[in-house]
Amino acid sequence: MNKKDTLTVNAGKVKIGGKNRITIQTMWKKSLENFDESDLKEIKRLEAFGCDLLRFSVPNQLSAEILAGIKKDIKMPLVADIHFDHKLALECIQNGIDKIRINPGNIGAEWKVREVLSAAADNNVPIRIGINTGSLPKELLDINDKAEAMLLASENEIEILEKMGFKNAVFSLKSSGSEDTVRANRIFSQRYDYPLHLGITEAGPLTAGLVKTSIALSKLFDEGIGDTIRVSLSDSPLNEVIAGREILRACGISDYGVNIVSCPKCGRSTFDTHGFLSSVYEELYLIKKPIKIAVMGCVVNGPGESADADIGITGSGTKAVIFKDGKIIAKVDENKCKEEFLKILNGL
Ligand code: SF4
Repeated sequence: MNKKDTLTVNAGKVKIGGKNRITIQTMWKKSLENFDESDLKEIKRLEAFGCDLLRFSVPNQLSAEILAGIKKDIKMPLVADIHFDHKLALECIQNGIDKIRINPGNIGAEWKVREVLSAAADNNVPIRIGINTGSLPKELLDINDKAEAMLLASENEIEILEKMGFKNAVFSLKSSGSEDTVRANRIFSQRYDYPLHLGITEAGPLTAGLVKTSIALSKLFDEGIGDTIRVSLSDSPLNEVIAGREILRACGISDYGVNIVSCPKCGRSTFDTHGFLSSVYEELYLIKKPIKIAVMGCVVNGPGESADADIGITGSGTKAVIFKDGKIIAKVDENKCKEEFLKILNGL
């Protein structure tokens, strides 16, 4: 990808834009009001799986206060997502949040947006202007061309930003359709240098959402467009992070972590490749360095794929053969294959 050299903003330790790598975001899916120790562990787990930024809905004062407490325990930059009440954005900025997302379509009067921008400028906090076809400003609701409506919404916001000399901004133009999203982002990128947060909004359940998002993002990446992504799925934040990683890998943008080649299973298989893969799934996705793994179910394609991977396992009946760097290094019984495979993996 010959990435467009957009403006760079700093969300805490993470740089978004310019020639910096494309970052992966997800969103916390529960109410902050019930936040507990197990949630803190879950956030640290998201970070370990490659999440760069985590966004929280902040619908009230209590949520803003709880988010300020979480911020003290988490290294990953955190983003406050504010709708309707600009005072919550001001509160989060004061509390040291790393980035704010607002949707100007529902923040209300221009002076409120100005107050948020002014506080953000004083505290060097970037703002994402998140334009979404589901919540466009009232005066744009009758426009049938949703890409055009998003572009008009962004023009209005840029006018306010530029009058204030505020450049520390990221934009997103999201629709639930790939076509509108691609067209809006393409035209935006031709007109402006602000970094773009890409995604399909309300993309759907895991498979459907991943397909829609991949198609849109791969077109935009081919044109050098995109600085940070979120895959918005009706699924867990963890799967959103893994989906983001897989899209960047499939588009040839990132080689971070594991590349899994695995047998889909057919009537020939006698080894439970799906069960084996599930049993080592977490360990595989926690690896940071580029590595290719093959998990195969029979002798048709198994030895070839396993030999081509950094580590491969091919099962047949109650036995499995483990390959490392193209050579067979172990033959194990089915009930020992996970233990042996992880020992070899951890020794890399
Ligand atoms: Fe079938 Fe073997 Fe291919 Fe798996 S690897 S799908 S078992 S032919």
